[in-house]
Amino acid sequence: MTRSVLIEKVRNIGIIAHIDAGKTTVTERILFYSGRTYKIGEVDEGTAVMDWMAQERERGITITAAATTCEWLGHMINIVDTPGHVDFTVEVERSLRVLDGGVVIFDAVAGVQPQSETVWRQADRYHIPRISFVNKMDRVGADFWRTVGMIHDRLGARPVPIQIPLGVEDKYLGLIDLAGEVVWVFSGDKGEPPVTAPLPKLRPQEPDRWLNEALTAVTLVAKLDGEALRTCEAALREFPKRRDQLIETVAELDDQLLISYVEGHPISEGELKKAIRRVTLASVITPVLCGSALRNRGVRPLLDAVVDYLPSPADVPPVRGTHPKTGEALIRRASDEEPFAALAFKIVADPYVGRLAYFRVYAGKVSQGNMVYNSARGERERIGRLLQMHAQHREDIEDAYAGSIVAAVGLKNTFTGDTLCDQSHPILLEAIKFPEPVISVAIEPRTKEDQDRMSETLGRLSEEDPTFRTRYDSETGQTIISGMGELHLEIIVDRMLREYRVGAHVGKPEVAYRETITRAAKAEGRFIRQTGGHGQYGVVTLEVAPREHGAGFRFVDKIVGTAIPREYIRPVEQGVKEELETGVLASYPVVDVEVTLLDGSYHPVDSSELAFRMAGSMAARAALRRAKPVLLEPIMEIEVATPEQFFSDVLADINSRRGQVTMVDQRGHMRMVRALVPLAETFGYATDLRSLTQGRATYTMEFDHYQEVPPAVAEAIMGKVRGFVRR
Ligand code: GDP
Repeated sequence: MTRSVLIEKVRNIGIIAHIDAGKTTVTERILFYSGRTYKIGEVDEGTAVMDWMAQERERGITITAAATTCEWLGHMINIVDTPGHVDFTVEVERSLRVLDGGVVIFDAVAGVQPQSETVWRQADRYHIPRISFVNKMDRVGADFWRTVGMIHDRLGARPVPIQIPLGVEDKYLGLIDLAGEVVWVFSGDKGEPPVTAPLPKLRPQEPDRWLNEALTAVTLVAKLDGEALRTCEAALREFPKRRDQLIETVAELDDQLLISYVEGHPISEGELKKAIRRVTLASVITPVLCGSALRNRGVRPLLDAVVDYLPSPADVPPVRGTHPKTGEALIRRASDEEPFAALAFKIVADPYVGRLAYFRVYAGKVSQGNMVYNSARGERERIGRLLQMHAQHREDIEDAYAGSIVAAVGLKNTFTGDTLCDQSHPILLEAIKFPEPVISVAIEPRTKEDQDRMSETLGRLSEEDPTFRTRYDSETGQTIISGMGELHLEIIVDRMLREYRVGAHVGKPEVAYRETITRAAKAEGRFIRQTGGHGQYGVVTLEVAPREHGAGFRFVDKIVGTAIPREYIRPVEQGVKEELETGVLASYPVVDVEVTLLDGSYHPVDSSELAFRMAGSMAARAALRRAKPVLLEPIMEIEVATPEQFFSDVLADINSRRGQVTMVDQRGHMRMVRALVPLAETFGYATDLRSLTQGRATYTMEFDHYQEVPPAVAEAIMGKVRGFVRR
């Protein structure tokens, strides 16, 4: 088999936006126009094709990045649907990692919202070229140009409108494509085909004659009554100036276009589009389009723009990695001739086919039944079936080529972030980084049957989502689940019930506190039992010292000579690590410490691995006690948008939560507050904010950093914990 679509005709894109901007609706319309779904679904009615998980439908938010493939003008477009809720930014990150280009959706009324800023910055980090779609042009208060201004001011981007809207609000009729010199007029709300009218060539010397001819061209194909006609005329009057601006801006940034421009010959559509493409791919500009996905307006030209202006896998730099053994830097070009290299970016437990691994092929090709090498784990695995995923059905394919995004069945030991490659040309691509969970709850099965299935289900879900963890606490006999926020865990519990029919009660959310130390300290650990028969003997001296925040644990062996035989060093380290799992203050894990093994002694007969493990443990515990331990708590960044009249209440409430306001701002008629608030004080914030503001404020919340707990609060936490912890 050879590839069915040339690599230049592949587009891997993500649709990214603030929640509610219309990402689901746009995606759904794209699938409709590109012929893969047959009935227009409505998010409001909960039938959108991409939102296939039941509770997503209810909540109206998209959580899991479902990859879907469609076709447009002979191009293959792979869309990875990215979540809009900040509790799931890790999903956005992992999608960005495998995408080549993005469509960023803005709400024409709200403009640039806080989460768009977050996502925009993430996309900047991954150097993802983007086009911007100003959606909801039909809404009261929509303003295309204001939104363009906000993209410039808030995001520091260079927005370049390549369309101008025809009308606005309930008079929003369509758009004029500046590069193509075509008017698009949409009628009806059910996706009726739009009419297009090519405009006559511009005649700067005879503007009135041009305008008349242009209006005639439009009215020839579209029935426009009095008001619509006036709207159209107004937009056409603006057209020559806007097109000139477009050419000027692009010529300033693109040498090839600049030459034509200064030489003064007319710039052709093809020439202009190629120049726009070049500066978009270089992430110098973001072309801006407009539309109303809900009314099916502007989605086809958006698809054209994806094809015209977003990169193919061949346009992006070769993927980088290292040799798994030697660490040598390697690259793989996006070509079928290169050795196979792919990145697994999502594992899904599918109720029908089992474990599905989504991956992006960067180089080479792979076929059904092939053995591949997982270089992250050093294991070989067989690819069973290869699937191309459409929103609601899957298509078996024989091969997957460079640049494609597909899913495989049969990979048992491949996890998110792993590299799959050709074993004779191994490469390790950079893994995806996931943050540690910050919140935990105890979870209990509702019934006996639930009990049997709960741990299996939790295991599967944590396999899908690397920021979700599950563990059994033997001290309390409870199962504890941990994640990135209250909503994150709520959704997991919801999924258990709906997808796997496992009912569970959850306890109160608990903050994932940590402990660390603030100064260095030494201690000795002696584990000696020599009362007849074979005894135990291990003695070690350790020093513990604080490390930089986030630096993690490090063990240093400074034993000289034979104070402790080599085979007992590892057991000492093991003992230390075990001890660090439950700190001395309130049994939380101890982080960011360096432990140095300084000295020790042994006994030729009585020493054993066990004795040194115990001695390591005892020494670590004693040293931690002397090293001024402190409690750390996760701090969240909250951003609230509230109408003016609730502003002071919102501020007062943040203060009462030990919050620290870092920014206040005015956006249109809304006041914005950004603050750092300890996670422990944020429980139930959604409900409290709703009642405080009659449901009119919105907020986003994201983990920011760990910070030392103030002494008075620490006392309370330790008191509570000591109440039921045995040590
Ligand atoms: P997402 O959260 O970004 O996926 O947004 P959705 O696609 O779920 O849309 C959020 C809400 O905005 C839904 O009620 C949609 O019906 C509505 N919506 C989406 N696009 C438009 C549009 O073009 N015009 C109007 N008026 N509403 C829209």
